[in-house]
Amino acid sequence: MSDTASKETFSFQTEVGRLLDIVAGSLYSNREIFLRELVSNASDACDKLRHRALTEPTLVEGDQEFKISLDVDAKAKTITISDNGIGLNHDDLLETLGTIAKSGTGAFLEQLGKDDKSDVSLIGQFGVGFYSAFMVADKVDVITRKAGEKEAWLWSSDGKGQFSIEPAEREERGTTVVLHTKKDAKEFLEDARIRHIIKTYSDHIAFPVMYGDEILNAASAIWTRAAKEITEEQYTEFYHHIAHAYDQPWLTMHNRVEGLVSYTNLLFVPSTPPFDLYEPERKGHVKLYVNRVFITEDTKGLLPTYLRFLRGVVDSEDLSLNISREMLQTDPKLAKIRTGLTKKIIGELKKKATKSPEEYAVFWRNFGAVMKEGLVEDSDLRDRILAICRFASTRDDQLTSLADYVGRMKEGQEAIYYIAGEDATKIAQSPHLEGFRAKGVEVLLLSDSVDEFWMQHVTEFEGKTLNSVTRGAADLDGVKSDDASDDKKDETDESALDGLIAAIKLELGEAVKDVRPSKRLTESPVCLIADDGDMDVNLQRLLQRHGQMHGGMPRVLEINPGHAIIKKLAERAELEGAASDELLKDASHLLLDQARIADGEAPSDPAEFGRRLSAVMTSAL
Ligand code: ADP
Ligand code: MG
Repeated sequence: MSDTASKETFSFQTEVGRLLDIVAGSLYSNREIFLRELVSNASDACDKLRHRALTEPTLVEGDQEFKISLDVDAKAKTITISDNGIGLNHDDLLETLGTIAKSGTGAFLEQLGKDDKSDVSLIGQFGVGFYSAFMVADKVDVITRKAGEKEAWLWSSDGKGQFSIEPAEREERGTTVVLHTKKDAKEFLEDARIRHIIKTYSDHIAFPVMYGDEILNAASAIWTRAAKEITEEQYTEFYHHIAHAYDQPWLTMHNRVEGLVSYTNLLFVPSTPPFDLYEPERKGHVKLYVNRVFITEDTKGLLPTYLRFLRGVVDSEDLSLNISREMLQTDPKLAKIRTGLTKKIIGELKKKATKSPEEYAVFWRNFGAVMKEGLVEDSDLRDRILAICRFASTRDDQLTSLADYVGRMKEGQEAIYYIAGEDATKIAQSPHLEGFRAKGVEVLLLSDSVDEFWMQHVTEFEGKTLNSVTRGAADLDGVKSDDASDDKKDETDESALDGLIAAIKLELGEAVKDVRPSKRLTESPVCLIADDGDMDVNLQRLLQRHGQMHGGMPRVLEINPGHAIIKKLAERAELEGAASDELLKDASHLLLDQARIADGEAPSDPAEFGRRLSAVMTSAL
C-alpha cells in the first residue's frame, strides 16, 4: 500500500466547517488561548489513560510518567504539543476531529454571531476547543497512536473545508499536535510568550508541562492544598481551567470533609449561565477524582441535576478506584457524598441570600429556574430549597422570598397569590391583577416553565395555601384595603347583570364553562379564569405547546360589573327583543376574544372576530 493510496480525504461536517471559517478568518484578541485548549486536551488524554490503566495496567507498561511537552521551532515556524496520553485511532480521529459536530458547535456559532464582542476564548466551554488551533495555524498536523494499538495516524488539515487521515509513524502511544503558524502569529514563537501563556492558563494542569528540560507549571492538584494558601487569583485561574470559562466565579467552595466517607470539594458557581444549562441531558460538570486520579466529568449520582450549573472537582480517597463508572453511580459511599455536598451547597447559597441579597439576585436570575427543579425532584430537601427560592412580585422589581411575602401579607389575606405565565412582562400587566393591585395585595409573578410543576408539589407555605389568580374565585372582600374609603363602585344593577350573564351564556354556549361577575377586575371588562379544581390556565397552555394536551378545557368568563361596557350591555339585555339583538350577540363573542387576547392568545376565529368587530364599530359610529 503506497502512502498516496492510503490517504483518505474528508470534508468537515457543515457546522464545523463554518466554525473553522470564522475562527480562522477573524482577528481575535485572545488568540493565545489556543495553547490552553491544546494543553487541556493533552491533560484530558493523560487523565483518560490513567483511568483506563487502573483496570488494564499493560496499557502504560514501560511508561508510567504522564507528561505534556512543548516545543517551538522558530525556523520551521512550528509549535508542537505532545502527550503520552490515550491517543486516537483512525475511527476516533474521524469521530472527534471533523465529521461529527458536537452539540456545542451550533451553540458556539450562535454565540459568536450574537454580537461582535462575544469572545472566541469561550470556545473550550462549547467542547470544540481543538479548533482554536486554526486561529494561529494555517496547517495543523496531528500524529497519534492509541494506547494498546500498533498503528499510528496522521490527521492533517488547513482548516479550509477538508482534512485527511493517513497511516504514520509514532514510536510511543500518545498524540503530537504540530501547528504551522500563520504569518501574523509570529509572537507565539517567542520563548517568553510561551512561558507566560502556560503560567497564565495552564498552571493547574496536574501533569508536568515540559519545555526543554524545564517544567513550566505547578503540576499539582490545587484542591489538595490548604485553602488559606490559595489566593483568589489562583482559584479563578483554576476555575477558568476546569470550566473552560472566562468569567469570575460567583461563589467558590473549597472544603475538606472527614468522616465515614472523606472527601475534598472545590466547587464554583459561575457568574454567567453555561450554554448547555437547558439541554435535555441535564449533564453535570463536576469532575470526580479518586485519590487524585480523574474518574469522570459527569458522574451520575455525584450531585443532583438541579445543581448542574456547578463546576469544579470532588476528590475522595474512600471510593474504590477499580470500580466501573456504572457501578460507581450506585455506590452508597457516593450517595453519602452527594447528600453531604448538596446540603452544604444549599447552606452556602442560603448564607449568600441572607448576607448579600443583591448578589444573590444575580445568581437567582441565572440559575433559579434550574434550582426550582429541585422542588420537584428532591422531596427530602424541598423545604431547604424553598427557603432559598426567590420570586418576582407586583410589589417592586426586587426578588422576594416566600417568608418575606408572608411577613407582608395584608390583614385578612388568607393565601399567597401568584400568577404564572411565560412572559414576565405580560403577566405583570394581566387584568387578573387589577383587583389585587387595588387592594394592595402582593402577587408573585412566576414566569419559568418549571413553576407549574413545582406548584403541584408545594401547595402551601407556613400554613398559607398558594393560590393562582387565574384559577378559582378571587374573594378579596376580607382583605382590608389600604385607603380607608374603600370606595364602593357604582355597579351594575343585579337583576340586569343576571340577565346579561344569561344572554352571554346562551350565546357562547360550550365555548365557556360559565360566566360570572368578577371580584378581581377593576379596569378591564372581562378576563378568563380556570374553574376551581380545573387545570390552571398557564399549565394548560404549556402542555398544549408541548403536544401533551389537545384542545383545551373551557374556562370561566368573568365580567366586571363596574365597567361601562358591561353596564351598557346589561341595560340592553333588559330591553324587549334582546334575544334577537345582534349587537349583544356579537359583543358576547368579542368580550370572550378580548379576554383571550389579554392572555396573549389569538381570537378563536379570527375571521369572525374581524366581522364582529366591524359590525360593532359600524353601529357605534
Ligand atoms: P473537548 O476537549 O471539550 O472534548 P476539543 O475540541 O478540545 O473538545 O477536543 C475534541 C476531542 O478530540 C476530544 O474530546 C478528544 O477526544 C480528542 N482529542 C483532542 N486532543 C487530543 C489529544 N491530545 N489526545 C487524545 N484525544 C484528543
Ligand atoms: Mg478540549
